[in-house]
Amino acid sequence: MKPLPPGLRELLDLAESDRARDAVVALSRAESARRDAAAKSASTAGAMAAQASARAGEAQRASTEASAKLEAGESELRRLSQQMDVAAGMKEFEGLKSRIEARVAQNAQLEEAALVAMERAEAATTVAAGCAADADAASRAAADVAADCAPRLAELEAKLAAEDARRREAAGRVPEGLLRDYEHLASKAGGRPVVPYGSGSCDGCFTSFGPQVKTKLAEGEIVRCGSCGRFVAPV
Ligand SMILES: [Zn+2]
Repeated sequence: MKPLPPGLRELLDLAESDRARDAVVALSRAESARRDAAAKSASTAGAMAAQASARAGEAQRASTEASAKLEAGESELRRLSQQMDVAAGMKEFEGLKSRIEARVAQNAQLEEAALVAMERAEAATTVAAGCAADADAASRAAADVAADCAPRLAELEAKLAAEDARRREAAGRVPEGLLRDYEHLASKAGGRPVVPYGSGSCDGCFTSFGPQVKTKLAEGEIVRCGSCGRFVAPV
């Protein structure tokens, strides 16, 4: 087997180093995303619990208000009944009687309203309690995930630092002109500055390699894709 063209071994090492580094970055991103998703669920559940609690408070206040109105109506009814007990004449008695009848009808409505308001308040309180429990569970789950992610992220950070050092070392061995072209290709969308010859076409732009590519590779030259400029590795 022919020796690799000068600089290509170093380029391949650099490409390999970049692949390893990208894998660590991807793992790190996935881990962070897992942690962030749990935190977001907890925050959403917390916001829903706060809303449910506010609605329950509102329903509770409406219920208290309806009960107070009913109480006032009942107290008014008692007052009218006491007046009727000491009514001075038939006329006053009849007047009080019709006021009492009207009051009784009003009180029946107030009682119905108070009952409905109480039921609403109870339902809203139950919902709020459920939401609070959900929020607690989501918050605990988020804390668990964060605690689980922390050592992994620290480990990945250390790995990334090691990969960065490896990359610097690999880049330092690549001849300057080649390195400049490599970095330029790497910075473009899609990255992957080195593609294998093996499949017969460029992995990056899918252009077929002509017969001259094989010849040049066989002659130990550094070959680049005629279409996108990626380096072609003789593998
Ligand atoms: Zn190409």
